[in-house]
Amino acid sequence: MELVLASNFDDRLVTATADLPVETYFGNFPVTFVGGGRPPSILPPVDPERFRTHLRSIHRSGRQFYATLNSIDLVLKEYDAGFEAKFLAEVARLLDLGVDGFVVALPLLVEILKREYPSVPVSVSTFARIRTVTQAEYFLDMGADTIVLEEANRDFALIRGIVRSGARVEVLVNQTCLQGCPYRSHHLNTSSASSQPGAPCPALEYPLLECGLELVRDPARLIASIFVRPEDLEVYEEVGVHRFKISGRNKPTDWLIRAARAYAAREYSGNLLDILSYVQVKAPRSFLHDSAVEPLDHILQLVEAFDRLSDVTIDNRAFPKGFLRRISVTDCEHTSCRTCGWCASVAERVLRIGGRPPSEYVPPKDLPSSTWILPEIARAQSDRVSIPLVVGRRG
Ligand code: SF4
Repeated sequence: MELVLASNFDDRLVTATADLPVETYFGNFPVTFVGGGRPPSILPPVDPERFRTHLRSIHRSGRQFYATLNSIDLVLKEYDAGFEAKFLAEVARLLDLGVDGFVVALPLLVEILKREYPSVPVSVSTFARIRTVTQAEYFLDMGADTIVLEEANRDFALIRGIVRSGARVEVLVNQTCLQGCPYRSHHLNTSSASSQPGAPCPALEYPLLECGLELVRDPARLIASIFVRPEDLEVYEEVGVHRFKISGRNKPTDWLIRAARAYAAREYSGNLLDILSYVQVKAPRSFLHDSAVEPLDHILQLVEAFDRLSDVTIDNRAFPKGFLRRISVTDCEHTSCRTCGWCASVAERVLRIGGRPPSEYVPPKDLPSSTWILPEIARAQSDRVSIPLVVGRRG
């Protein structure tokens, strides 16, 4: 097993995971010329000296560091004169700081990188959204060696095919993105654009709110989301996947250590959400409570809706044996979760909302359109005034 672990640039993360099979850490500066996979507002600030020192610490422990250059949208600056020179200057700066490899999503950037630095390894980011073997082969032909899967990580026919094509496959294990998420493209573009110099950074990535509302309507969907339990890694190993990625560049050091230990041990006996992102509920709820939000009725309805999911647990010990094996033989890509019902049946066993099973959950009626929140996101971004909002204020 090889783990690929998000770094928050705290050297304690490296020493505390020295006994684990972490092969590679990953991260980058919050704002970069081509942008990356997270909005800068949620990432820890890092200056070049800290970056260099952290990478030295990683190298001393015999591990590598990959920089994320995984934007999927260059906001048309690739057509500017001098684009390639500026990109290569950034790459050279990162290599000088000690970076060992890159995580990239756009073929254009892979091509430039491999032309100038043929021996520097490139992993194809989840942002490339690889969904077919042929897609993966295009990147392999350009010189990339690793394909990272996230949204397709329950498509075992695809995984087998990519492994057969000779790629090293890496599976991202701890995200809670919706199965077949319709908001994904918008979300990836938002992150990519907001992490480039001079770009506005929304106080909340709006697609997260849309995604979270899907769970507000039907929390059982959480169990059909794309996470992989530590106990189920062997299902991937049987088809030739041995590299597992743990995300959380915005997480505290102890959170990352706990997640890495759970996956290295192949077990976690607590609330599975302790090691999963659950960002589509945490981020909108935090924004609605803490940021500049007008106490309008429709906003208060959203607050109340998300508060229903403030106390959610997934009992990882209660999963049926073979939970993922059943998924691995289900053609989830071409099956309606409503018709299949497997994950909803498991949710009834493992998921608790305020201590109650999904069958006792009553979704809110007449949810307002979530687009009402967009002006509030814009306002929070511009003045960052904090007006804590008290639920129940509607009187
Ligand atoms: S199709 Fe069935 S097994 Fe696959 S994610 Fe949906 S409910 Fe789960």
